Order: sequence, then C-alpha cells, then structure tokens
Amino acid sequence: MHMAAYDQDNIFAKVLKGEIPCHKLYEDEDTLVFLDIMPRTEGHTLVITKEPAPDLFGITPEGLGKLMAVVQKLAPKIKDAVGADGVLIQQFNGAAAGQTVFHLHVHIVPRKDGEPMRPEGAKVADPDALAATAEKIRAVL
Ligand code: 5GP
Repeated sequence: MHMAAYDQDNIFAKVLKGEIPCHKLYEDEDTLVFLDIMPRTEGHTLVITKEPAPDLFGITPEGLGKLMAVVQKLAPKIKDAVGADGVLIQQFNGAAAGQTVFHLHVHIVPRKDGEPMRPEGAKVADPDALAATAEKIRAVL
C-alpha cells in the first residue's frame, strides 16, 4: 500500500511541540485534543495522535485504537457541553479527499437540529469565543 511521507514541520506537529498555541481540551500519553481554529460549528474539535502518522494508513492499529477510544469517549461529552443534538465524526486522507493538514486527525463536529455547518476554512474564529467554548467543554471532561 502507498505510504504518505510525514512532514515533521506540519502545523499539527508544531502544535504537538508547543511551537503553535492551541485551545487544549484533553491530553494523554498518546493523544492531544484541541479546538479547530476554523470551526464548522461551535465545539468543532480535533483529536490527534502523537504518532508521526500523516493519515489513517500511517498509524499502528494499536495507536488507531487508542485514538478512536478518545474520540468515542469525548464526542458525546463535547456534544452535550455545547447543547448539540448529534455529532459528526469526520476524517480525511489525501488532498483529493479534502485533507489539508497531513498529520492524522479526527474531527468531532457537534450538530444542532436545523443548523447548517459553516463552510470549510471560512474564517478563523474569534480567540475569545474559542476560549469560552474550550472552558465550557473542559468543565464536563
Ligand atoms: P483537514 O486536513 O481534515 O481537512 O482539516 C484540517 C483542519 O485543521 C481544518 O478544519 C482547519 O480549520 C484546522 N486547522 C488548520 N490550521 C489550524 C491551526 O493552526 N490550529 C487549529 N487548532 N486548527 C487548524
């Protein structure tokens, strides 16, 4: 199978190294969870592995299990924290599939009845609004 190369300087690698700040929600030995800077809905969260994996095919099965266990545990709590009705779990592999950051990540996107998602990459959210959302979510984790 084709294996994509891992760029040590991709934006999420820099977040992991602490070179770029993030609104952190949760961290453990294998995983980092933070708010998406261009949220499609309030509470749009990214769950990333600490393995240097560019996509779903570059991580070990064990690592993937740990990553998805965090998604499974946090998604319903994040959904409730922002008062959403459902939660979309999304993950892209390759530019053709819509991937823009080549470090494996899973999107948690809370959805409210009748409320459309904002367009992808539309705009960077107000830092105060992100901080307030992060606070609300951290309170329930
Ligand atoms: P994907 O590769 O799955 O299409 O999406 C990458 C996601 O990362 C996008 O939803 C985008 O808004 C988000 N993103 C891009 N740069 C940054 C950043 O510097 N910080 C954070 N928190 N999110 C980012």
